[in-house]
Amino acid sequence: MKYAYKDKEKTEKIYIDDAMKFIDYYCLNPICTGILRACALGSTVVPSYFAANISSHSGGCLYGKYYINIKKYQKDTFNLDNFFQNISSERKASTNKPSENNKNEVLNQNTIPLPNSLFQVYKYCLNSSLEDTLSNKKIIEILADLRSEHFYTKVIVGNKIVEGKLIFIDKKNKTLNIQYPAHLEKIENKKYIYLTVKINYPIANMSSFLLNRIYIIGGYFDNFKVTLSNRRQIKLLD
Ligand SMILES: [Zn+2]
Repeated sequence: MKYAYKDKEKTEKIYIDDAMKFIDYYCLNPICTGILRACALGSTVVPSYFAANISSHSGGCLYGKYYINIKKYQKDTFNLDNFFQNISSERKASTNKPSENNKNEVLNQNTIPLPNSLFQVYKYCLNSSLEDTLSNKKIIEILADLRSEHFYTKVIVGNKIVEGKLIFIDKKNKTLNIQYPAHLEKIENKKYIYLTVKINYPIANMSSFLLNRIYIIGGYFDNFKVTLSNRRQIKLLD
């Protein structure tokens, strides 16, 4: 991770470049008890990052699993509208290779264009601060995850990536019910948002979806509903 909390109460964020050696920092996930240390500070070989080598991430924390170095990616050529259009188009899924346009741009030699897959864009957002921007939008406006539950308290509207827990499968109507935020354990008195995901692409067996697991869903959310036209719009996190 590039970010962590400075304090145990998780109120003050710190970027890795401002971190110090041998100091305890805390995981961004509100329910994770992981204590992080700054690694590879000052290294010219490996980019520095926070890692839980004092006490590991807990509660199935996704930050430990899906660490990527976001600096590796050239985000200036990434267009969020094109991304959502691409993953939800009914055409056969295109490859993740950058388009011709991107190839012609002058790219920083050490970076590669951010691939246009749901999982890659999710990981990019997950490893970014909620205040960072991608394609002129704040990360908090793109990704609804455990960090942004204070932002999405009543409704989720527009093109979003939502990290949610699958709680019900309606095989007949080909819909999934998703709970946001994706706490694996039910928290008492916690208000959740329940979303209906309509599967509109050809699918052989709705039983291939797994209950009580965390999925990421990318698409246009409206009135607590999203319709998926392409399998590229949903991914099980494992
Ligand atoms: Zn964690």
